[in-house]
Amino acid sequence: MHLADIPAGAQHILQTLAQSGYEAYFVGGCVRDLLRGVPPHDWDICTSARPEETEFCFAGHRIFETGLKHGTVTVLEEGEPYEITTYRTEGPYSDSRRPDYVRFVSSLEADLARRDFTMNAIAMGLDGSLRDPFGGAGDIQARRICCVGKPAQRFQEDGLRIMRALRFASVFGYEIESCTEQAIHNSRARLRHVAAERIHAELCKLLTGDSVGTVLRRFPDVLCEFWPQLEPLVQLKQNNPWHCWDGWEHTIHTVEAAPADEVLRLTMLLHDIGKPSCKSTDDQGVDHFYGHPAVSAELAGQMLRTLKFENRTRERVVTLVEYHDVQIPPRSQAVRRWLNRLGPEVFFQLLEVKRADSRGQAHAMVSRRLAELDALQKKAEEIIAQGQCLTRNDLALTGRDIIAAGIPPGPEVGRVLDELLDRVLSGEVPNERPTLLAWISH
Ligand code: ATP
Ligand code: MG
Repeated sequence: MHLADIPAGAQHILQTLAQSGYEAYFVGGCVRDLLRGVPPHDWDICTSARPEETEFCFAGHRIFETGLKHGTVTVLEEGEPYEITTYRTEGPYSDSRRPDYVRFVSSLEADLARRDFTMNAIAMGLDGSLRDPFGGAGDIQARRICCVGKPAQRFQEDGLRIMRALRFASVFGYEIESCTEQAIHNSRARLRHVAAERIHAELCKLLTGDSVGTVLRRFPDVLCEFWPQLEPLVQLKQNNPWHCWDGWEHTIHTVEAAPADEVLRLTMLLHDIGKPSCKSTDDQGVDHFYGHPAVSAELAGQMLRTLKFENRTRERVVTLVEYHDVQIPPRSQAVRRWLNRLGPEVFFQLLEVKRADSRGQAHAMVSRRLAELDALQKKAEEIIAQGQCLTRNDLALTGRDIIAAGIPPGPEVGRVLDELLDRVLSGEVPNERPTLLAWISH
């Protein structure tokens, strides 16, 4: 840790408070990240000064009072906002969004005690000295997530801490200490009282973490608390030549195999969610899941709605889930048609989904499937680089030309354009003006 890495503005705030006779420390995420050797993304400060005293100390600065009810004053220093929070404890979270009330306290220890995990309950002074009453630095060293105080009680107070523990485990690759883990399993019902937006935010971070697989493997019960639709997938056995894993393990492999992107990871998590209700077993004992992509897409849409995902994300995931299983032959005509149908962005995302899905299937098939997908990718890139016609707008003639050719203005013009596009996509007619004009008048 190098104190020189602390922004001058942040140092100045601590100095200003100290010069006025108050205690002030960096606290929470920034201290944890410094100890982990990762640059902090913000610098939260805690102080013995009451909010009005803090405001007085920074009288010449721009100040935001949005967090005032909870003891937080935001001060703009060298263009950066810093949250300065008075030492406090918290009341209960009856709406599961915010504590009902906060109580200012005079000791730093009492403030640290309200924090969730030992690694988040460390304060650091300007000289780099630590105040670490719960042994958080040792836990960071040991790469361990541990509650401050009694885990069961802490999760009862605020169920979101369950998701925060899983998120940190996934993003940092830390292990969850066994008492804390046990309490997570036992307290998971508390999540039902947590606001959807809060769960959503933590889930997205969890899914894009490097250790997402470990967390999904150990805590499916936690996810089932807010997404009970996952339960049948977690239980799903599948016996067929394409899969060497059951439903949940296959899902986990595909999530891990996808790039760390929110839409792609959500798609993989939900792509087979409809399988359990589509399962049939043939005479040979082989399982089939006919029609599962459509059912999965429907369920995925509902699940993303309950967690209040924004429309754009929800619609994209639903589309990718719906098409995850389509077969696209690596021939120009088929690739042009799919590029036309999905647009290049979704098309290439779909290839990522298919790659991840292949990596989660029986080993023998993987390399062949991946090679097919690479061929498909190359073909699509070629078509785009050549500027081939993929939409009505790319046609070498316009609606005006069609009207000039004698077709009355109105819906018929659109139909002719669609038909022309269809011929061009199939390769039957080249996208050249004279040929297209000749084709209209034949
Ligand atoms: P990040 O790096 O994502 O910002 P963070 O730990 O800083 O992680 P914040 O939401 O910024 O997360 O919270 C700042 C600090 O407030 C935490 O480090 C922790 O000490 C405390 N904290 C946040 N949420 C809770 C909670 N639900 N229960 C108890 N303490 C919390
Ligand atoms: Mg933070």
